Amino acid sequence: FAPWADPDQKPLIRFENVTKKFGEFVAIDDLSLDIYEQEFFALLGPSGCGKTTMMRMLAGFENPTSGRMLLAGQDIAGVPPNKRAVNMMFQSYALFPHLSIWDNIAFGLRRDNKPKDEINARVEEMLKLTRLEKFARRKPHQISGGQRQRVALARSLAKAPKLLLLDEPMGALDKKLRQDTQFELMDIQETTGTTFVIVTHDQEEAMTVASRVAVMDEGRIIQVATPADIYEAPNSIYVADFIGDVNLFNGTTSPEGDDRYAVHWAEGHPPLIATSAQPFSDGQSSHFAIRPEKIAISTERPTETANVLQGKVLDIAYLGNISTYHVALPSGQIIKAQTANTRRISRRAITWEDPVWLSWNATAGVLLDR
Ligand code: ATP
Repeated sequence: FAPWADPDQKPLIRFENVTKKFGEFVAIDDLSLDIYEQEFFALLGPSGCGKTTMMRMLAGFENPTSGRMLLAGQDIAGVPPNKRAVNMMFQSYALFPHLSIWDNIAFGLRRDNKPKDEINARVEEMLKLTRLEKFARRKPHQISGGQRQRVALARSLAKAPKLLLLDEPMGALDKKLRQDTQFELMDIQETTGTTFVIVTHDQEEAMTVASRVAVMDEGRIIQVATPADIYEAPNSIYVADFIGDVNLFNGTTSPEGDDRYAVHWAEGHPPLIATSAQPFSDGQSSHFAIRPEKIAISTERPTETANVLQGKVLDIAYLGNISTYHVALPSGQIIKAQTANTRRISRRAITWEDPVWLSWNATAGVLLDR
């Protein structure tokens, strides 16, 4: 029933027409979603779109105003946070400063009055999993930020939750450490088989760690898909624009047969040729969206490519691994094109004010309904 459900996957979490209101304000709007067992799932969207509210409902800190939430097939309405097989790791880590790393990890197990042997074995296992054996006797202020993050992770996994919620788990780490930690997190998720749901503002991070990403806006899900599909086959301008850079051409389509369409976008310019599995009617308002790196840029006119536009280079940003060009078309539109600097940039490379040709083939972009 959920529009995103895959019949071959077993849902661990199911949102069924969940609405959450704060007073009159609708924070989550009739949302249906399945999150599968053992997956690494990311919630992505602008500030205020409802990501944290989703997490808080999963953790049991908030209840839906209407609709149902199922965990492993059981309705979890009214089940208190500590009675759910769910744990949440907070951005602040919330470690106990006066307790050793070992005791921090053991905390939840002791509170549940687990037998001593079981606690010992479990804490040792968690220390090993997060590579913290050497630091077990230290206090949180005696270890690095990255290590503290791993302690928080070890502590939240100690009770073997079915679902771990991670709210900006790498927000406090610098960029390089963040990248290393992302891979570590993926490893740990895979080893434990726990379902991870992550909230992050960092689109690259969501794309890196998650097997599926939900892009949200104003309490609704706009698209749920693998990172590659979110990037290569966005279902809307909203998603295309939210993830990475995109060039948009507004126009009207006319079918050319064989999934091919002409997009009439500017007087005096030839139509763009694009393919689309989704049908468009004659005269339908549409957007053609194409990523900068899908556009080739050259000083000579290409002959074999379906789409060729001439323009003038406005500026060039050299970023080491790539270069980004802003190219003005005669229509006035500015196009962003990007090339990978796989070879050393020679002096004869394209420069400012050069007339250039932009080209791409019919399958390089996506056609979107306006
Ligand atoms: P951010 O990325 O900034 O954390 P978010 O996507 O997590 O944003 P939420 O915290 O889920 O957003 O909030 C969604 C909307 O619900 C926001 O407009 C917020 O102001 C509102 N909201 C959240 N909690 C409450 C509350 N307790 N009372 C009233 N409004 C709330």
